[in-house]
Amino acid sequence: MKIQEADAKSLLLAQGLPVPGWEVVRSAGDARRAAERAFEAGAVKVVVKAQVLVGGRGKAGGVKVAGDADAVEAAAAAILALQIKGIQVRKLLVGPAAEIVREYYLGAILDRVSRRIVVMASAEGGVEIEEVARVNPAAIHRLGAHPHLGLLDWQARQLAFAVGLGGPHLREFAKIAEGLVATMLVNDADLVEINPLAVVRETGPDGMAVERLACLDAKITLDDSALARHPELEALRDLDEEDPADREAREEGINFIKLDGSIGCMVNGAGLAMTTMDLVKRAGGEPANFLDIGGGARADKVAAAMRIILADPQVKAILVNIFGGITRGDEVARGLIEARAVQAREVPMVVRIVGTNASEAGALLEANHFATASSLDDAAAKAVAVAGPAR
Ligand code: GDP
Ligand code: MN
Repeated sequence: MKIQEADAKSLLLAQGLPVPGWEVVRSAGDARRAAERAFEAGAVKVVVKAQVLVGGRGKAGGVKVAGDADAVEAAAAAILALQIKGIQVRKLLVGPAAEIVREYYLGAILDRVSRRIVVMASAEGGVEIEEVARVNPAAIHRLGAHPHLGLLDWQARQLAFAVGLGGPHLREFAKIAEGLVATMLVNDADLVEINPLAVVRETGPDGMAVERLACLDAKITLDDSALARHPELEALRDLDEEDPADREAREEGINFIKLDGSIGCMVNGAGLAMTTMDLVKRAGGEPANFLDIGGGARADKVAAAMRIILADPQVKAILVNIFGGITRGDEVARGLIEARAVQAREVPMVVRIVGTNASEAGALLEANHFATASSLDDAAAKAVAVAGPAR
């Protein structure tokens, strides 16, 4: 689950990371009032940022710095009128703007290969890290955190040196990197990114300029499977931006991941679902989704799964592969019949049901003129044949 920058910043703050203050608003008028409060508190400039769950907001015009309340209001109105990568901007972050001296990248991901949290740092901050990885991979420095001890202090300092941060920033950077890993662990996150982590210039109480590190952007992806351990984080789900199919799947308790192919798959059990996708590929097709309706699914759940699959206009054929254990084959067949009676568009379907009540299922399907298959290879081949070749 992706969360908005403002919420990600709250999680960073909770681990003691240096994040400039902010407010979240939904209108240009409220942006103006938030800016007035920031100016009163001493801000020289104010930053207005689109809150959407995609990167590259800066490039798309979704981040603006303004020097007075009128300019903030105008910037806010302009950003609220934007669609960024197809997403309508509805919310804005407003806060004191930092005076940036230099931008860095700092991120942590769960790396499945090394089975560790890997911390990455780069002196090429502010630009998308995927771009740095493509153009200049050597500019990204990586370190695996210890599984039990977290990121050790010397590791954090090693990363600081690697990106050229020394002097007073060495300790600051080490604390931030350790806090980054703590944020990963405490929230069961898959990814935490600060881009840019910036050296910013501020005026100290004595009127002298001081430079310090600040987290100016934050991106966090939470592990969906661990959300049950963090009921308070569920509140950070942004329903405005959730894909309708993902939302229905979540509400129905269906495990669904959209893919790019043309063959919709409805399967029970994650292992069988992956096998089914492999067989579709082997038969020359491309799966349109991963979908596991779970054990003991009843007719209404089957109908919901069908709606979710058919909502994808790329789907040209549907392959149903059910192994009846707790799930009863006849119940699934009834769900398919029910779903087809009300479905929005006609798509060829190949059904394979084995196991509990398979013969009752077969009779029901035959009476309702469904194409069936006896083996899984046969089912995959038939589905690929009716869908046509993969792109
Ligand atoms: P992203 O484009 O979606 O990653 O959004 P960011 O929050 O990273 O903002 C993009 C860029 O806007 C940053 O790399 C900075 O150069 C700039 N920016 C963001 N916040 C501030 C700020 O407080 N002050 C200034 N001067 N620039 C900022
Ligand atoms: Mn950024």
